[in-house]
Amino acid sequence: MFKFVFINGKLVVENRAKISVKDRGFLYSDGLYETLRSYRGNLFMLDAHVLRLFHSLKVLKYNIPFDEEYVKSAVIKTVSKNNLSRSDAYIKIIVTRGIHSGELHFGGGYKPNLVIIADSLTPYPEVDYTEGINIISSSIRRSAIGSPLYCHKLLNYFENIFAKNEAHCNNAQEAIFLTRDHLILEGASSNIFFVRRSVVYTPPLTQNILPGVTREVVINIFRENRIKIRQKKVHYRDIINADEIFKTSSVAGIVPVKKIDRFVVAGKVPGNITSKLMKLYGDKVEYSKKKFYLRKT
Ligand code: PLP
Repeated sequence: MFKFVFINGKLVVENRAKISVKDRGFLYSDGLYETLRSYRGNLFMLDAHVLRLFHSLKVLKYNIPFDEEYVKSAVIKTVSKNNLSRSDAYIKIIVTRGIHSGELHFGGGYKPNLVIIADSLTPYPEVDYTEGINIISSSIRRSAIGSPLYCHKLLNYFENIFAKNEAHCNNAQEAIFLTRDHLILEGASSNIFFVRRSVVYTPPLTQNILPGVTREVVINIFRENRIKIRQKKVHYRDIINADEIFKTSSVAGIVPVKKIDRFVVAGKVPGNITSKLMKLYGDKVEYSKKKFYLRKT
C-alpha cells in the first residue's frame, strides 16, 4: 500500500515527496511543526494545534498564503488518503519559510512550504502507563528566563533530541530541562507536573516553555474537577520529594513517572490524582470523538 504525503496542495506518493535542499527548513531549521494524534480517526485537539501553529507563524513573521481552515482540511484529506480515518494515527504538520533567496533575515519574499505526514501510530508500551517511566534531568541547563523562542515548536529540535539521547543512555524515557538555579522547566518532548499533599504543580508559561496542548487540557480538567492546580516556579528539590509525578504530551497523553534521576517516587505509581486524571483525560478523548464525527457529518 502506498503512503501519501501532502506537499503544498498535492497528495504525493511518499517516495516522490520532495523538498528542495535549498529549503530554509533544511538549511537553517527555519520552520515550525505540530505533532498530534488521532484516536480511531478523531483528530484530538486539531483546532488547538493549528491555533498554536498560526500564532507562531504570525509572531515569527512567516508569509502565510493559507489559513487555518485550509490546514485543517488538508490534515483530514491526508489522513483519509492514507486510509487512517478509522485508526490511531500520528500526524505531523510542517511549515518552512521556503526556498532560500540569499537573505538571512525574514524579508526575502519567501513562499512557505506546507507538508503534512500521517502514519499509523505505534503505541507506547502499556507498562509505561501501568508502572510509570524513568526520567532524568538533562545536562543542558537553560538560563533563568530562558528564551522566548522556546515557546514555539521550532523545527530546530536538536537540544531536545540531545536530551532524549541522554535519557536513552541512562535507561530513562524522558529528560527534563532545568535552569542553572535548578528550577524545573519542561521535558524534552513533554510538560511536567507533580503532586505534593494533594496539590498539583507545573511550571508557568512565563518561564518560556512550550504551551503544550495537553498541558492546557490537563489544567482545565483539574479546574473542572476542583483539584488544586498551581502554575508556579518549582525547584528540583520539590519534584524529587513529590508524591506523584507525570508528564503530558499529545502523542503519549498522560504518563506517570516512577523515578527521577536516582530518586524513586515514594507512593504508588500511578498515584491517586494521576490515575484520576488518566481516566478523565480518556473521557475527554471519548467525548471529543463524538463531537468530531458530528462536525464531519
Ligand atoms: N514541551 C516540549 C519541548 C515538547 O516538544 C512537547 C511536545 O512535543 C511538549 C512540551 C508537549 O506539548 P503537546 O502537549 O502540545 O504535545
